[in-house]
Amino acid sequence: MTCSLCERPHSAHGFCGMHLYRLRRFGSTDKPTGPSESERFWSRVKRGAGCWIYGSGAGYGRVKCRGRQESSHRVAWILTHGQIPDGLIVRHKCDNPPCVRPDHLLLGTYQDNTNDAKARRRIQAGASAPSAKLTEDQARLALALRSQGLTIQAIADLFGVCRATISHLCSGRNWRVLRETPAQMALSL
Ligand SMILES: [Zn+2]
Ligand SMILES: [Zn+2]
Repeated sequence: MTCSLCERPHSAHGFCGMHLYRLRRFGSTDKPTGPSESERFWSRVKRGAGCWIYGSGAGYGRVKCRGRQESSHRVAWILTHGQIPDGLIVRHKCDNPPCVRPDHLLLGTYQDNTNDAKARRRIQAGASAPSAKLTEDQARLALALRSQGLTIQAIADLFGVCRATISHLCSGRNWRVLRETPAQMALSL
């Protein structure tokens, strides 16, 4: 005879030892839940008018998130927006490593981090078509990020262009050629 809820051997009252224990201890056979990952993380954040500091505030705090060690600012981004798209990093607008305040964080590339000014100039230069504000490479990356579920606003912020530019790109009004094979484009990144 087994438990009525699982394959474990029957103990008493139709339940196995584990389910019986939960029922007696917690009043329910459901798996007991502690505070969520998100609640635990934010409970360790000191919130102020400026930067929000995680833990002791010494450098990039390390946090266990979804089974892996992550920097606290990356965890803050993940808990706020979801997975960090492949190939991108989370940067600080405020240049303050222990800060985890969501509106002080933005996505960027490694290149941005090492050479901010150069990256900005490249974005402004854009492609040759007058309506285009993105280079071809940026347009490809933008479409790939969109297919990974990043919002249009987040992509626009990333490249420093207006929302409409990304929205037109994704709806195929500009950059029609790229749009035809987005899956292939994503693979070639
Ligand atoms: Zn059971
Ligand atoms: Zn900050």
